[in-house]
Amino acid sequence: RREMAAKAEVRPRPLELDPIASRVELAFWEDLRRLKLDVLGTDDSPIPITGYYTPCTHPKMSGLLRLGRESLVPPSASSFGSRNSCPVPGTLINMNNMRGLQNLDVEYLLREEAKKILHDIMYGKIEEDPSLLLRFLVISFADLKNWKIYYSVAFPSLVFKSEMTLLSLHSASLVLSQEEAKSLSKSLKEWRSSNETAALPFFFVDISLDSSIAIRQLKDWKDCQDNGQKLLFGFYDHGCHQDPGWALRNYIVFLSLRLKIEKIQFLCYREKRSELDLEKSLIGEASFPPPHGWDYSDYVPEAIGWEGEKPGDGRKEKKLKEINLESMSPERRDEEQQLMHLKLMGWRHFPVDLKNLSGIRCLLLGAGTLGCEVSRLLMTWGVRKLTVVDGGHVSMPDVLKQSLYVDDDCGVPRATAIVPHLKERCPAVDVEAIQMEIPAPGNPVSPSVLDDCERLQTLVASSDVVFLLTDTWESRWFPTLLCANENKMAITAALGHDSYLVMRHGAGPGTRSGNMDDVIAQIQNLSTEDALGRQRLGCCFCNDTASLFNISYLLDLIGLQSISDETVALPGLTSIVSGKAVELFARMLHHPEGIHAPGDMAGMDTEHQLGLLPHQMRGSLPRCDLSTVISNSSNDCTACSNIVLSEYRREGLNFVMQAINQPTYLKDLTGISNLIKSDTCLKLPASFPVNSGKLSSARCLLLGAGTLGCDVARILMDYGVRTLTIVDSGCVVVSNLARQSLYTTKDRKTPKATAILEHLKERCSSVEVEGIQMEIPMPGHPVSSKEAAGVLKACERLQELVATHDAVFLLTDTRESRWLPTLLCANENKIAITAALGYDSYLAMRHGAGPGTNSEGSDMVAAMNKLSAEDVLGRQRLGCYFCNDVIAPVDSVSNRTLDQQCTVTRPGLASIASGHAADLFTRLLNHPDGIHAPGDIAGKSSERPSGLLPHQMRGSLSQYSLLTLVGYSSSSCIACSNAVLREYRSRGLDFVMQVINEPTYLEDLTGLTELMKSADYSRVEWVDEVDDEEFADM
Ligand SMILES: [Zn+2]
Ligand SMILES: [Zn+2]
Repeated sequence: RREMAAKAEVRPRPLELDPIASRVELAFWEDLRRLKLDVLGTDDSPIPITGYYTPCTHPKMSGLLRLGRESLVPPSASSFGSRNSCPVPGTLINMNNMRGLQNLDVEYLLREEAKKILHDIMYGKIEEDPSLLLRFLVISFADLKNWKIYYSVAFPSLVFKSEMTLLSLHSASLVLSQEEAKSLSKSLKEWRSSNETAALPFFFVDISLDSSIAIRQLKDWKDCQDNGQKLLFGFYDHGCHQDPGWALRNYIVFLSLRLKIEKIQFLCYREKRSELDLEKSLIGEASFPPPHGWDYSDYVPEAIGWEGEKPGDGRKEKKLKEINLESMSPERRDEEQQLMHLKLMGWRHFPVDLKNLSGIRCLLLGAGTLGCEVSRLLMTWGVRKLTVVDGGHVSMPDVLKQSLYVDDDCGVPRATAIVPHLKERCPAVDVEAIQMEIPAPGNPVSPSVLDDCERLQTLVASSDVVFLLTDTWESRWFPTLLCANENKMAITAALGHDSYLVMRHGAGPGTRSGNMDDVIAQIQNLSTEDALGRQRLGCCFCNDTASLFNISYLLDLIGLQSISDETVALPGLTSIVSGKAVELFARMLHHPEGIHAPGDMAGMDTEHQLGLLPHQMRGSLPRCDLSTVISNSSNDCTACSNIVLSEYRREGLNFVMQAINQPTYLKDLTGISNLIKSDTCLKLPASFPVNSGKLSSARCLLLGAGTLGCDVARILMDYGVRTLTIVDSGCVVVSNLARQSLYTTKDRKTPKATAILEHLKERCSSVEVEGIQMEIPMPGHPVSSKEAAGVLKACERLQELVATHDAVFLLTDTRESRWLPTLLCANENKIAITAALGYDSYLAMRHGAGPGTNSEGSDMVAAMNKLSAEDVLGRQRLGCYFCNDVIAPVDSVSNRTLDQQCTVTRPGLASIASGHAADLFTRLLNHPDGIHAPGDIAGKSSERPSGLLPHQMRGSLSQYSLLTLVGYSSSSCIACSNAVLREYRSRGLDFVMQVINEPTYLEDLTGLTELMKSADYSRVEWVDEVDDEEFADM
């Protein structure tokens, strides 16, 4: 760079300017991050921001434009008095993804900003607010997931068609007389220290003949004219170099267009120790012929000004600055990551009340199978205060079923063992665990039972919600009574061996008399309605629920003729029930009437964004059904009726002890015999036999080790599967921890394919599990010639993996990654099970069998080419995941907003889908026709002991629907049709590579291109695939 040596006269030359730089403080990005996450959501419309322009205040350091925390809020009155930070209006365009940022037409945007400046010049706004000449633009992408920001800043500068000529340029000290210099210093000091003018970066210097100097604002232009004086056009110059600063160009355009000037003397104001720096400040002369055509109202001027680019660099790819926010407040970062999926739900669906959720205290009674799942899922909903009560110990067979425990926990009280497992998934959780048996009627009295009763009273009183997750019916009695008495939310989840019940208890009774201070009146005047005057909903003792549960199916499933009298729940059931219980809780919490909300029925219309809030849900795996039930509080209920509650209010624990000690006491009191149910009560299994030959010998390939992969792997092991191969390309990140049931904080940044092995082993040492870190090749993701060899290798690997396994589970989170495995399974006639999640709906399906052949004899070539439309049993083939689609999979990730990239789904949904997927697999394996079995529809009766075997199950959380569907293989399917399989058989991986590289090839091959031309198909995003609208069509 040329230094200030050139103090001598310069010859006329084109005016060159010193570009300005930006300095964006981390605090600005941190606040933008928060704004995006909490407020803006998917909105990417431009945001007005404020930059702070500083003149050069040091001989060797340039000034700049600063963006800080205050830039995202409108400037306050006080910010205008600051001499070294003049507020300047700017625009921020923050895009939703990287591709969006890269695709911005940066030249166009720059010209649009320049047009605003031009407009302000022509319409006289500059005189009122000179800072408008310094207007700037920021484009960015805040990658919230990875704590990165990518951005670029522009200072739009209008380009004159005819050149601006610099006639002379000198240090101010050489131009001004001593007297003038002194006077100028003094006047500028006053200007710079007045609140009114300090932040105005453009001004006139009016030098009278007697060398006295006045500094005037642009709006006082009239006062400066025709006094025969010398006039300097002054501005705060950010630069400290030889050329005048960037601000001069727009200033000249203003002077030319608005004030019709063609030649000026200008002053570049630069400062040293808060005084005019006469050596560094420049006085120059420039001329500029008037431009033509700029006064058309829609004229769009040429503009330059992207930071770091020289004029004439042209339209090449924008170089973006990259900021890493990971160093910002790490302690808060982890927690924010864990809650991000909930905040993202607010982007499109409904705002989660995180404050309420994090403050609410949940009491979990039972830390077994249900307790583990429910506590983990509550954390994914942002619950941070848990109290867990359990009296048992972790035993060896529990480790498989109870998702949090590992081998090392055996023999340890569950109440002790659960705490570290919750903490290592969510360090911010505040969990208290209490080892205690819950006092139950009819149980032998232990010496501590009175203490335990008192303790439970205190616990319920200090909690907001109580989850009843114990494994006996009678242990739910006292907590149910306490919740009804205290009007606390209570949620019951109960497992039969193949069916379940999830319900919320109704509110407690209101009182009839007005005088709340009168204790006696409160006891005796219990209303049959709740405090809102509504009929109370029932509790889990109000109805005969025990009949739900029978035992025959499982015995057949696992091939046992008899089993101990303990009820054994199907492994997939726990996940399904826990997911629903937690969903019910979240729904109730967000309902304006909370515990008093009336019960909704499935299929009803609702205005609540979260969907329906039923009273009870009952479901059965073999019948593939889900029903919602409403029942009111019963007058003779042993737990929540007014008779029982007034007795409890009168007698307190004496009453409870009596009920515990005398089995007939409650019966006599209420006149019924509800508690007889305790004879047939629900009991969770102490052990689940895993000796089903088919299951233990099945080799399962799981594609994806994320939320679905973790759950499916665990449930399959619980069903008895002992050979698992797991493929995944990603690493464990903090935001996954609570959702992906197997990982802990120790796994952070470890490949999932590695981390999952240890976690499966520590639950079942006899499992043979292999992890493969590999990206599944995907259509529509063209590869460079360098990458081609690696992708080809991955294809071969996947071919080999599918060939050597009996069943493939498709559990990845993009549509396109399921294409090649689907094709391979159809080709090899392998069992393929898909589980996929929408925002609040899920899909679990089994793909149909591959095609049979039409050829006679043993001619292999003929066999290859004569694929039949039917399977080898001569049945119509069932469809695959892609059969309903009309477009080939393409890159579905780059254009997505963050919430789409993260596949925002409601917590609990993955558990439910995984449970159904694993259950579907075991059902298929036990079906005599296996992969060739036709698809059953719910409602049909089945002669098979294992019940129905559907083709597809689609469920919606908000509607409480569960549909079974049958779809047949489509002749234009891009993954399983004969056209595709034939091509694959004859060309092998050449074909696959072509599909990967040519986005439209598959569509052309299968005739989908023609199909699309003939009808108006709109593109369906994968995440929306199981949306409500679609249900209506089926
Ligand atoms: Zn009841
Ligand atoms: Zn298909």
